[in-house]
Amino acid sequence: MKKHNFSAGPSILPQEVLQQAAKAVIDYNNEGLSLIEMSHRSKAFVDIMENARALVLELLGLEGKGYQALFLQGGASLQFLMTAMNLLEKKAGYVNTGAWSEKAIKEAQKIGEIIEVVSSKDANFNYIPKGYNVPSDLDYLHLTSNNTIFGTQIKSFPTTPVPLVCDMSSDIFSRVLDFTQFDLIYAGAQKNMGPAGTTLVVVKEDLLGKVSRNIPAILDYQKHIGADSMLNTPPVFAVYTSLLTLEWLKKEGGITAIEEANEKKATLMYSEIDLNPLFKGFAAVEDRSTMNATFNLADEALKPTFDAMLKEAGISGVNGHRSVGGYRASMYNALPIESVQALVEVMSELENKA
Ligand SMILES: *Cc1c(COP(=O)(O)O)cnc(C)c1O
Repeated sequence: MKKHNFSAGPSILPQEVLQQAAKAVIDYNNEGLSLIEMSHRSKAFVDIMENARALVLELLGLEGKGYQALFLQGGASLQFLMTAMNLLEKKAGYVNTGAWSEKAIKEAQKIGEIIEVVSSKDANFNYIPKGYNVPSDLDYLHLTSNNTIFGTQIKSFPTTPVPLVCDMSSDIFSRVLDFTQFDLIYAGAQKNMGPAGTTLVVVKEDLLGKVSRNIPAILDYQKHIGADSMLNTPPVFAVYTSLLTLEWLKKEGGITAIEEANEKKATLMYSEIDLNPLFKGFAAVEDRSTMNATFNLADEALKPTFDAMLKEAGISGVNGHRSVGGYRASMYNALPIESVQALVEVMSELENKA
């Protein structure tokens, strides 16, 4: 039986994408070659890379606006370092909304001066700080749009002349935003775009080339742009499968349509958390993520029963992160609402039993 996959990452992909990707591993486009055994300089793969980069900009509404899309390696974790390498000259600001922001800060500190503009650590990151001042002398302000572990999401981004850099690993392509407000966006593919192994970077070109340090080639965005995102052998399978997912998203109606579906799933999930007395939500209500719903049992003694019921219903991947505990339902783009219904049913069954 196919499970209801609530995994936080690597996570669910559309079934049709998995089928197409599996076929391409055996024989890509009836060429008599596997996708993963052909040259990345072949016309077949060069087209894949070009299409993927173009479709990213199209879906984000960034075509012809001075942005470049890159498919890199090293995960979002390498971007913690690479953004600072390429953009940090004097001082950068970070909004600390959780474990991933903290890691981003730690890496950037190895490159230059960092200030923590604001933090929600005082309440174990269960909310998004608001109304803070952004100093005007920063090279950039770094944000984490969706806090995968804590289940909070920035709903409204600061307006500032300072360039915005945003880690969108767990909510890229999930909701309509004015993406032109960001100067650099990065996202590990494995949460909402594709398999692990590639990281999307979308960067406004005029932001680059301003720092004085000598950037190693493999860490230099300009070098990657100059090489059409093929400075070295790209992760061909991850890029192709990401392209398939983006094509699926376009066919579904793009970000506008998926946002509506994501809202419905989140509403269903959070109403159960709020109405069922056996559960309590972790994140502040106004900052709740549409992607990762974090919640706890009101009475830990019910855990074995609840876990057994989840297993019985084929619900997978809902264990909370060790720093929050409890449960986390990740409801990425490819998760059907039927899976949320299945989870909600188990939660209300527990209420009937208890
Ligand atoms: C998962 C995640 C990361 C880390 O991604 P890797 O690709 O494993 O390096 C960074 N930021 C956020 C918000 C994440 O959810």
